[in-house]
Amino acid sequence: MAHHHQFKTLIEKPYGYVGVCETCKIYNIGYKNFLLCLNEYEFEWFRNNLINGTMLTPFYTSHGKEFLHRTPMSNFYLTFSSDEVEELVAMLNEIVIVIEARKSLKNVN
Ligand SMILES: [Zn+2]
Repeated sequence: MAHHHQFKTLIEKPYGYVGVCETCKIYNIGYKNFLLCLNEYEFEWFRNNLINGTMLTPFYTSHGKEFLHRTPMSNFYLTFSSDEVEELVAMLNEIVIVIEARKSLKNVN
């Protein structure tokens, strides 16, 4: 994706990362082979979907995936194993603390 704004990586793991475009305020969630570009509201929506299982439908595949998450495309889904959901939620939860801290710092200045 062509993008020339200042991008800040907030967290980096062996399996993924979360960064933010400082200009657009769009969060990039990179996890394994997908990348989501979400605003703060959508970020929270996605994180809560994973935590509450709201958008996760049990879906067992022969290659270890157990959940299916819909996308805006009717024939395109994200699939996760339980471990992947936990791993991704842990990364997103960690980043929420960073996001809140950054907001507090901006309010101080
Ligand atoms: Zn941008």
